[in-house]
Amino acid sequence: MEKYWDIFLRSFSDYGGYLWSEILNPSWGNYFYWLLGLSLFFWLLEIVAPWRQHQAKFRQDFWLDGFYMFFNFFLFSLVGFNAISNIGVEAFNDFLGLFGIENLVAFEVQSWPVWAQLLTLFMVRDFIQWNVHRLLHRFEFLWNFHKVHHSVQQMGFAAHLRFHWGETVVYRTLEYIPLAMIGFGIQDFFLVHIFATAVGHFNHSNFKVPLGPFRFLFNNPQMHIWHHAKHMPRRYGANYGITLSLWDYLFGTAYEPEDGRDIELGFDEVEHYPKSFLEQQLHPFRESVEVKPKPPEAVINQKRETA
Ligand SMILES: [Zn+2]
Ligand SMILES: [Zn+2]
Repeated sequence: MEKYWDIFLRSFSDYGGYLWSEILNPSWGNYFYWLLGLSLFFWLLEIVAPWRQHQAKFRQDFWLDGFYMFFNFFLFSLVGFNAISNIGVEAFNDFLGLFGIENLVAFEVQSWPVWAQLLTLFMVRDFIQWNVHRLLHRFEFLWNFHKVHHSVQQMGFAAHLRFHWGETVVYRTLEYIPLAMIGFGIQDFFLVHIFATAVGHFNHSNFKVPLGPFRFLFNNPQMHIWHHAKHMPRRYGANYGITLSLWDYLFGTAYEPEDGRDIELGFDEVEHYPKSFLEQQLHPFRESVEVKPKPPEAVINQKRETA
């Protein structure tokens, strides 16, 4: 038990030191300044060539989303996830050890060139994330958490990182085993992460660029806005792609009927959804324990059964 406690404490101090040194030492390998730079870049594009011209430069919820960006990218890892996940990994390895398994590596890709490893990592991770995103829409308990992201009513680059921290836990947990099974030799996933962050900012930005045939490969603002449509033709939504739109086209979940520039965003009753960061953090937990009245059909059927 003491071992886990040590890991917990060390994770906090390691990450605190790491974050501080990131801020103090700007460099090309620095997450903090990449996030800042990418945000400024897409904000500038929104100002210079906006898709919705009447949208304010400081759009609705600009500062709220700015805070989400910092919270989800840095603080959440700092205050807990890093510590919890280090313990989780250690406990999981100990559990495997009970069965004499020393590691999960099933495919050795370490001998591959670095570019091939990076490309494989990127593709596998993006496909897993596309599937996790579908689950977030499919199950009500998960949807309650994912609604935070869908509460955006005016779209802009910073909306990318408006999501509940619970999503990070779901994504990382479900990604862990498949990624651990592929023995990547590269320790630093920096490039993949920065690329995914850039495309994520792009997907949410108020900016239009004709991608031509590349729209069937890469997610983009014109496609992702339909993912945020208030009124979806399908019950569980469409366009689940994170970085690649390819999976939606391959598996028949792509939806872009017309130019979605001015469509209404959100979900039913989004007007009554909490507006502050703290309320949005608490709301999914409340919604999940709320006992909802049964839909009328179920009541009717029950009456028939008891009659
Ligand atoms: Zn979604
Ligand atoms: Zn989105």
